[in-house]
Amino acid sequence: MDALLARYPFLESAREAVRDEAPPIDELLETGSRSAALDRAIDRLENALTGETVGDIHADTEVEVLSYPLARILVSLIDDRRVTRRFTNAEARTATIRIRNDLEATQPPTHAIARAHVLDEFELELEDLGDGLGIDVTRYLQLSSELEGSRWRLVNRPVHDGLVRITEDELFNVIEAAVRVRVGDGIPLEVPPHLADALEDATRAIERRLGHTKLPDSFDRIDPSLFPPCMQALLGRVEAGDRLSSHSRFALVTFLTSIGLSPADLDAVIENEVPVELRTMAEAVIGEEGPTQFPPGSCETMVAFGDCIDPDELCSQITNPLAYYDAALAEQD
Ligand code: SF4
Repeated sequence: MDALLARYPFLESAREAVRDEAPPIDELLETGSRSAALDRAIDRLENALTGETVGDIHADTEVEVLSYPLARILVSLIDDRRVTRRFTNAEARTATIRIRNDLEATQPPTHAIARAHVLDEFELELEDLGDGLGIDVTRYLQLSSELEGSRWRLVNRPVHDGLVRITEDELFNVIEAAVRVRVGDGIPLEVPPHLADALEDATRAIERRLGHTKLPDSFDRIDPSLFPPCMQALLGRVEAGDRLSSHSRFALVTFLTSIGLSPADLDAVIENEVPVELRTMAEAVIGEEGPTQFPPGSCETMVAFGDCIDPDELCSQITNPLAYYDAALAEQD
């Protein structure tokens, strides 16, 4: 299989390669122990749920390519719009980072994708307008609905002769939107019962890891003294001026937004100036669908990333920092 497909498994040519060259997915799952492709599919999803990308490429091209349709099947079985959104976002972000690198690096990596290939794949016919790129208004409207921020609204864009002007840099936003649409296309897929059975353990493991199934979705007050030890520790580090790693920042931000804090309200729980990257992530997490689209990761995930600090007695009764806060509030009432 062409290694380009491992870097871009959503390409039409990757779909054809899986159909023509790879063992059928049923067969793959019947080989007994969990295959490397399924392991990597789970890894894709876990990365998507705890960060912004789907992680590093597996050394085996076929494993990497097959893990993508398997991840789409797992997402379909979980069938939770927040999981789907995180997965499509992470796949699109990963692809855009790679595409930008391929197109802009002075020494593009081996198996780089060509600009013409990307544009052709996503039906992006561009015209050089001299002061930017012109994209057909219909195609623009299809993709701009995926982009956040008022600057993408058509009324805020120069339009001439049916072409919307975008900059070279904005082209990457448009490509990211196109990848996101492609990755999410058809999800939830109809998964045959025998495949769903074969993937039940993997699906349950991800759901457990996500730990969101019975999470409370509203809280009547904000009381930082009742936050779980892990969140108090992360807040303490922010206040001490530490720059959090992306997974720690994500854990803190999803917790704070899930208990009802808006990006503008973060200073209610952070004494010093709120770091820009924290506020920006809070804005991205809240997006258009509200904070519940990204619940915080489970305690298991927090432990895995070294973010579970000083667990106390209440911690032994819960599986998610949100559940801790809910229980702590109830104990005090
Ligand atoms: S057990 Fe959970 S709630 Fe408690 S400190 Fe660890 S991650 Fe936080």
